[in-house]
Amino acid sequence: MPMTDTTNANDAPNCSLPDVPARELPDDISPHREHLIRELEKKWVNGTKLRYYYFREGENSTDDVEAQIEKVDEAFDRWREVNIGIEFEEIDSIDEAEVRIGFKQGEGAWSYVGRDVLEYPGQHERTMNFGWDLTTDPRGGGVDTPIHEIGHTLGFPHEHQNPLAGINWNEREVYEYFSGSPNFWSTAQIQRNILNQFMAENIEGSDWDPNSIMHYSFLAPLIEGPEPYNEQGISPEDGLSEVDKDRAKTFYPATYGGRLPVLEPLKSQRLTLAPGEQRDFAVEPEATRDYTIQTFGHSDAVLVLFEDQDGDLKYVAGDDDSGTERNTRITRRLYAGRRYVVRVRIYLNWGTTDTAVMLW
Ligand SMILES: [Zn+2]
Repeated sequence: MPMTDTTNANDAPNCSLPDVPARELPDDISPHREHLIRELEKKWVNGTKLRYYYFREGENSTDDVEAQIEKVDEAFDRWREVNIGIEFEEIDSIDEAEVRIGFKQGEGAWSYVGRDVLEYPGQHERTMNFGWDLTTDPRGGGVDTPIHEIGHTLGFPHEHQNPLAGINWNEREVYEYFSGSPNFWSTAQIQRNILNQFMAENIEGSDWDPNSIMHYSFLAPLIEGPEPYNEQGISPEDGLSEVDKDRAKTFYPATYGGRLPVLEPLKSQRLTLAPGEQRDFAVEPEATRDYTIQTFGHSDAVLVLFEDQDGDLKYVAGDDDSGTERNTRITRRLYAGRRYVVRVRIYLNWGTTDTAVMLW
């Protein structure tokens, strides 16, 4: 490659998300409740460790895979530097990895969004792919594309699809541009990745961030307004923006040491939590038997159980009752002498009383 950079961000291909159906919610649900559910339903509970595996050989890999991995490694480091409550660990076992990263050329760059990585791809299939050469990708020295895909894995959507962005598209130009080189997208892909807006409740603390790592670059003719973007286009700065970091910390505040309160059998714990907030408890069983952990009250919640293996938390089970009338409930055999951690994240308390959690 000549060192003269004749490419720019607007000539580079873009991430195209896999087609995942929206989870159905009841028709009579309030807009406020629906927005909070949509904002949080794909996020991990805070404190989750995401273990990732690279396809270093085979059909999901590429010849110069180590040079590609170097860029993705650097992107993980950028996320680690933000110091959020999610950990990332590379592992060699594909069986144990929640995140499986391929480099199948010609298949574009994409990732499933947040917890969808557990639900949609098969157990040994890719949850993320880099389908072009990252070492010649002009954005952020090849690191911005993997930072963006890891952002999806953390549960963040495309920022240009934020309804608070107020971008007034020239749709004809958008269809023409993205159906041509280098993306060659279908109408459905253009709608899914650009024109469709997601629902926002704005608990992220900012309206719209055109510098977000989750925002594409757009040439001026694609935008009719507002000013000055219809004249300048939009070109996010390299790397994570300050807003990106703040949002990540809002959903995933750094977890601190210290003892967790213990969830004792048959003693309910009251949870007074604002939307998006989370409480963690330790479970230290004195007998080996089946235990049930359940939330109570009119709330949308996600409940996740981990086993604490020398400080390494392994996912055991999870349940999510958002959008339904039922409560989260997990029944599992727990073993005397072992230690477990229970995390409860609230989407919304839609009743008049608080939520509680109990173990028995
Ligand atoms: Zn994307």
